[in-house]
Parts: sequence; C-alpha cells; structure tokens
Amino acid sequence: MKPQGAAMLLYNTLGRKKEEFVPIRPGKAVMYVCGITAYDFCHIGHARSAVFFDVLARRLRHLGYDLTFVRNFTDVDDKIIARANRENRDWREVADTYIAAFHEDMGHLKVLPADFEPRATEHILQIQEVCAKLIGNDRAYATPSGDVYFRVRAWPAYGRLSGRGVDELVAGVRVVPGEEKEDPLDFALWKAAKPGEPLWESPWGEGRPGWHIECSAMSEPWLPLDIHGGGQDLIFPHHENEIAQSEAAGCAQLAKYWVHNGFVQINAEKMSKSLGNFTTIRKILEHYQPETLRFFLLGKHYRSPVDFTPQGMDEAEKGLQRIYAALWEARGVLAGDRWKCLDLPGDVRQAWDSLPKAFEEALDDDVNTALALAQIFSQVRLVNRLLEDKNLRTAEGTRTLLAEFVGSALDWEKQLGLFGADPGVFLSELRDMRVKRKNLDVGMVADLLRQREIARAGKDFARSDELRGKLAGLGITVRDTREGQIWDLE
Ligand SMILES: [Zn+2]
Repeated sequence: MKPQGAAMLLYNTLGRKKEEFVPIRPGKAVMYVCGITAYDFCHIGHARSAVFFDVLARRLRHLGYDLTFVRNFTDVDDKIIARANRENRDWREVADTYIAAFHEDMGHLKVLPADFEPRATEHILQIQEVCAKLIGNDRAYATPSGDVYFRVRAWPAYGRLSGRGVDELVAGVRVVPGEEKEDPLDFALWKAAKPGEPLWESPWGEGRPGWHIECSAMSEPWLPLDIHGGGQDLIFPHHENEIAQSEAAGCAQLAKYWVHNGFVQINAEKMSKSLGNFTTIRKILEHYQPETLRFFLLGKHYRSPVDFTPQGMDEAEKGLQRIYAALWEARGVLAGDRWKCLDLPGDVRQAWDSLPKAFEEALDDDVNTALALAQIFSQVRLVNRLLEDKNLRTAEGTRTLLAEFVGSALDWEKQLGLFGADPGVFLSELRDMRVKRKNLDVGMVADLLRQREIARAGKDFARSDELRGKLAGLGITVRDTREGQIWDLE
C-alpha cells in the first residue's frame, strides 16, 4: 500500500517500479497514449487499453490535475494499404471507416474522448522536420533509393526502456534483401514510395512516414510528456524507437513515466465451445451490455494479463447485477417515509466508514481498480445485511447509510465510468440480455414478470404463485421485496 498522504503511485516501466506521480509542471499533467492503427474493428485488447487509460485520465482529473490527454490515430500503414487494395477501396476511406468505428465502440464503453486526437497524415510536415533534424545531426541518414533510417548503434541509450542490449537485438534482426541500411538494426523513419502506395513529396524523394516517427512528431507540441502510455506490446520496438527519435532530435526526456497495460489472453477453445469466437468489441456487445465489458476489464489490475472467456464475462455480469440490485433496492427503501429512531450497530458504521477511503487508496496505488471494486462489493455486503434485517431496514441509521451508498454511485461513475445508469432500467436491460443468451423469448419473460407484479399488487397470491412456477420452469427465480420482485436466472 502507498504511504498515507502521498500522491498517486504509478508503475514506471522505465525504472521497473512504482513511483510517486510528480508532474513536470506543477498542477498540470500531459498524457500521450498510442492509439490504434485504423485498419479493422477494435478488439478486446484495444478496449482494455482504452478503458484503462480512460480511468487513469479520470483519476488525474479527480485529483485536481489540469490534464491534457492526447491519443493518436495511425492512418497510413502497410495494413491499411493492404486492406484498401484487397477491397478495392481508397486507403483514406479504410482509415476513416475504422476511426469512426473506434469512436462508436469507445462511446459505448464510456471511454471519454481525448483532448487531442492527432492523425499521422495530418503531420507529414512535422514528421519530415524531425527526419531532417536527425539527418542534420547524423543520427539518421537517407539512402540512394530515398529511405531514411535511424542509426541505432550510435544512440547509446537505445534499449533502456525495454531492457534489451544491442547485442541481444542483433540476434533477432531479419535482413531484408535489397535494403540499403548501414546496419541491420537501423529502423525506417521515411519509406521511399512503392508503386500503388500513398506518397508525399519530401527532400528525399516521394514516400511516406515509417510508423514510429509519427508519435515523435505528433507529441512534439506537448513535450516533455508526464505520462506516455500504451499496451505492453508497444514497449519494443515502438516506444524504444520513439525515445531514440525524440531525444536524439533534442528533447531531454520524451516522457517521465512510461505506463503499459497488460495483454488480454483469449482462450480460443473455451470461446468456441460457447458463443463462437468473438473478440471484436461489437461482437461482444451483441451478447453483453457495454458496462459488463468495462466492469470485466476493470476487475483485474491493468498490468496483469486478463483471460477473456464467456465464463469470466458471466461472472462480471453477476457482480454488476448485485451492485445495481443493491442500488435499486436502496433507492426504493429511501423513498419510504417511516423511519425508526434507531442507530446502527457500532461495528457496521465503523466498517462502512473505512470503505470510501480504502476505495481512494486503491486507485492511488497504481490505479488498482480490482481493489477499488472490492471495496464497492464490501459496501454492497453491508447494505444487503441492513436491507435483509427486518428491524434495521427502516432504522434512521440505515437511512443515512443508504443515502451515502446511493451518493457514492455518482463518484464511482465519475471515476470508473461505471454505475451511472438508472438501476431499474439497467437491470431490465441486463435481464433481457441474459434471457436472449439463453435463447428464451425476451418479450414473454418480461410479460410473465409484469403479470406477476400485477397479481401481487392485487393480492392474488394463487396467480402470483402460478406465475412463479412458470418462471421457474424457464430457470428464472424471483425474490419478493417490499420494493418489488428481484429476479435471477440460473
Ligand atoms: Zn506511438
């Protein structure tokens, strides 16, 4: 745990340890996160990265930092060009399509837009300027065919972020025949035009930028960065190359904190057995609510690997349902007006009072959302204990606590992007989603539940029991509370 009263701790890949977050400019924070290459729909791995950095951005703002959040789009690249050629479309149209899809998917997942979303092709001049600077100080060179390469071996700090030595790198290098590199380790800053590819005029002939150089050019207006982020797969070579380019071009330090999220592992065997092999966000959202996916992703610490399985999603859904059900019931109870003059047992109040602080501390300890969610579940357990207690349910002390519980949800929404929906609406949508996944008729189930509410309201208990039997036959159990019936699905 972090020491009391300290600022947020963040794991810095550069030092391989948790460090206290102290921004370069007091009160301000600049975070640059490498975004997608726009050639396909986003998959679960993109969702994880976007959701995590969204929570980090929300946390920094909550702590009072004036945050500038930049997330780029790679909109010219081999994969984009290949797809355009395959589908006989313009490469720009391919990139636009998938950037629009990114915004749509992330909107569903409550990922707030970045403050700046630069695209590579809008920064060709800046990219050429960085190239020219690096050629000017001998850090890079142009070949006779018009490629520009960075001289890796001449940059002594190379490999510091990934912890790879130059000798280790040599072993992994593939020598491509026809390339005019001085050294197989050198990487391309600018690629000479090939037939049928997009191209721009440059001092080295027509061509297009390499991948890594775009981030050095696009991050330039905000240098030095407080936080540079992305998935762990970007540490090498992408981020290593970004550091080499930016720092060789004159920036003392590209970024102070390097933050990387872990992988999503997909168990293909488990996946295909149940719902088919779906890994794009939009496929997942055909089977689950967006909030379930967000809750699932935040249920693990961002640096741990996550196993994506339908079973894991089902569990996340049940957890989410428990929290929303408690919010729903608490709101219903609070609407009542008869309260007993009765305090809560001291242990309940004491346990309750420690939880909000534990929630804050979890987020300050390297954005431990899994632990923060565990604190919410502890709150739910206490709330349920009071709601199930006939005597305490309508105690004055319970009223105070329930009001605090309902109020906390506003803070959870702000910081985690969760629990912001109306509980009643959310629970009925969740029911429909689960019913649909069981291949049951959504309308019929909703109708049976509605009929049962009516029967109970009219005190027709024979009819209500008959309907309970029908629902049980479909695997749906109902529990009656004074606020109405709460259902569950086996
Ligand atoms: Zn980048």
